[in-house]
Amino acid sequence: MKYTNYIENETENLLLKFFYQNMKDSEKLSQLCSIYVMKHQLNNYISGVPEINNMTVLSNFKKNMKSSFHNYWHKQISTNLSIHGKEGGNKLRTYNKFKYCINYESYLNLNDYEKRRKIAQMRISAHKLKIETDRFNGKNQYKAPEYRICDRCNLNKIEDEFHFIIECPMYKQLRDNLFTTISGVNYHFINYNSMNQFIWIMTNEDHRILNKFGDFVIGAWEIRQKCLRLETAAQNKLNVILIQFAKCIESHYSKFDFWSLLRLSEFPYYKICW
Ligand SMILES: [Zn+2]
Repeated sequence: MKYTNYIENETENLLLKFFYQNMKDSEKLSQLCSIYVMKHQLNNYISGVPEINNMTVLSNFKKNMKSSFHNYWHKQISTNLSIHGKEGGNKLRTYNKFKYCINYESYLNLNDYEKRRKIAQMRISAHKLKIETDRFNGKNQYKAPEYRICDRCNLNKIEDEFHFIIECPMYKQLRDNLFTTISGVNYHFINYNSMNQFIWIMTNEDHRILNKFGDFVIGAWEIRQKCLRLETAAQNKLNVILIQFAKCIESHYSKFDFWSLLRLSEFPYYKICW
């Protein structure tokens, strides 16, 4: 608060002053960051504060900031809309199923950095499951979440965190190991419905469970990546064969006839560069 006062009244740094003023005034910027909260708080306080060192004012300011941030956080996490106003486009759609308040999470105390990293990625949707990577199709058109389907299995389900952790048969063996450990701690777990199992895992604070969950996420992710690498290698080999095949045909036809033939028959690889 003292610093904002300094920027407003004393600094000769015009660039800093300009940037600060823009942050305060810009609705677009304010919607994207916590300046939204700051702006309203500052509007309420800065202009009407006679003495900046007044402890009551500072204490009230902090209290209001905290309360505003909590309201803002709850609003952002619970909305169904994306930041661009798209229905069902909120990236926090999974996070809000198990995160109810701002608090320090137990998994952050795990010793294994990789486990902490993978669990965090899974919790905040900072991963490369289809729900994140398939936001747009090949023509850069928006793809609704219900069309971002898992291609690791044939269940025809959205590949999101829930599907990855609870449903996808690709990781069944690892999941069985995890569920066996969990059942040793909670006998009723196996009788929960799928969503409650998911929430139970994501909100668990027991380090034995968190360690096992970390193993599951790392292991399942490795399986997924390995499959993708194999598919890419197979696709590359197929491309090479198709290119050789196409060149062979090309040698028997003029270039014009060849491309016409490909277009007419909608040959799927006619766009390959060679
Ligand atoms: Zn799947």
